Amino acid sequence: MSFASLGLFAPLCRAIDDEGYSAPFPIQAEAIPAILSGRDVMAAAQTGTGKTASYTLPLLQRLATGPGVRANHIRGLVLTPTRELAVQVAVDIAKYGRHLSLTSGVVYGGVKINPQMMKLRRGADVLVATPGRLLDLFSKNAVKFSQVEALVIDEADRMLDMGFAKDIQKIIALLPKGRQTLLFSATFSDEIRLLGDALLSTPVQIEV
Ligand code: AMP
Repeated sequence: MSFASLGLFAPLCRAIDDEGYSAPFPIQAEAIPAILSGRDVMAAAQTGTGKTASYTLPLLQRLATGPGVRANHIRGLVLTPTRELAVQVAVDIAKYGRHLSLTSGVVYGGVKINPQMMKLRRGADVLVATPGRLLDLFSKNAVKFSQVEALVIDEADRMLDMGFAKDIQKIIALLPKGRQTLLFSATFSDEIRLLGDALLSTPVQIEV
């Protein structure tokens, strides 16, 4: 099986070639066509399974068409529990998006907010963020959500363990209703299922 046969277009297949990946991992084979088709997805996947590529690749492809991003706006939002994961996801987005003309950014807490506010002025097609800092930026009008087409919640179980449930609810309430939503979690507890029920509409369920 090839990445192209999953529906990924040439600029992404070239970037995948650049990375030296020869074939999709199982989660990628399942998630990529579902996400490309616009479906919501709920996936149980540990780190190391290739989960990041399974959502960043189709997300980039969907964002490659569509309107330009307006000042301070974002079109794709990836929420992560930690700064380390946020940076890792942003690095992967830059790698996979190298042959596309999309803009991306990353914001997290524990560092000065002003440089992040400056960078968001032009908007970003994709933003990777930790929840608390994203809400701080929103309260300062540095980020606007009305253009958001897709939301990814990565490591949802860790997000809840770290006490981000309220922040996530606040963010979701601010996002457009028609968006696509993708939820990734290492484990599927009752709490995660409840979050999924509240957030996703008739999701494709994936377990690897
Ligand atoms: P992740 O589970 O997203 O943390 O990815 C684990 C590692 O697998 C990362 O270093 C990726 O670069 C790598 N990777 C992802 N997809 C593939 C693939 N299809 N073939 C080879 N390596 C991959």
